[in-house]
Amino acid sequence: SLRLRGVRKTFGSLTALDDVDLDIPRRGTTVLLGPSGSGKSTLLRCINLLERPDAGSIDFGDGPIRLGGRLGARTVRSVRSRSTMVFQQFNLFPHLTALGNVTLAPIHTEGVPKAKAEARGRELLEKVGLGAKADAYPDRLSGGQQQRVAIARALAMEPDVLLFDEPTSALDPELAAEVVAVLADLAREDRTLVVVTHSLAFAQRVADKVVFVEDGKVLLDGPPKDFFESEDARLRRFREMVS
Ligand code: ATP
Ligand code: MG
Repeated sequence: SLRLRGVRKTFGSLTALDDVDLDIPRRGTTVLLGPSGSGKSTLLRCINLLERPDAGSIDFGDGPIRLGGRLGARTVRSVRSRSTMVFQQFNLFPHLTALGNVTLAPIHTEGVPKAKAEARGRELLEKVGLGAKADAYPDRLSGGQQQRVAIARALAMEPDVLLFDEPTSALDPELAAEVVAVLADLAREDRTLVVVTHSLAFAQRVADKVVFVEDGKVLLDGPPKDFFESEDARLRRFREMVS
């Protein structure tokens, strides 16, 4: 599993992550739940160093990497290359086609030959149900299609871990459903996924593990039924509020 230990992040006097310890199982889907402002996005962002933790370590299975303090460029590159984030807003490049978006980083930062990157890119677009849209520009794609291109783009990086921050919350329900179906497919493929969501239905459908975060702390970490059946007043309140 991927192990986080003592991950701490403060913004001025605010403690966004309060020494978080968390094991994320390999080949499984971990769903992060919790109230707004509890630290879910900060936790995901710390896993791939979009946010620099004040302290803590991450272990991808080959030894702990210190995340706090000054980090060398090589450490940062190595941590970033292990995980890829898919954002709520898809952040596609508007001047590139779907295929261009998917192949940009493999060609320009990984040095994959263009023909090979494009062949793989088309496969990945096929996989997310967009084989016919490879040459379309983002403004000709629906929100759900754009998000699926963003997922194909993340897969093209072949990360150890895929991180999703509320991947469907900017979408209308029917478009969100297409994206959820793609995520459910990925979840069946023995990938390591970490998904922040407010959707209990999604958590119920795909989670192997549920982590509930409140005030920068992990309040519960276990199989989905531990969360759904918990009698803890805070968890009950949360379940009632979001469903
Ligand atoms: P939501 O469900 O609304 O997305 P969240 O659980 O993702 O919430 P975070 O975005 O991780 O919450 O924020 C955790 C806390 O850290 C919040 O109090 C937030 O205001 C604060 N915070 C996050 N990013 C910053 C920042 N760049 N500067 C200052 N405070 C921040
Ligand atoms: Mg968030």
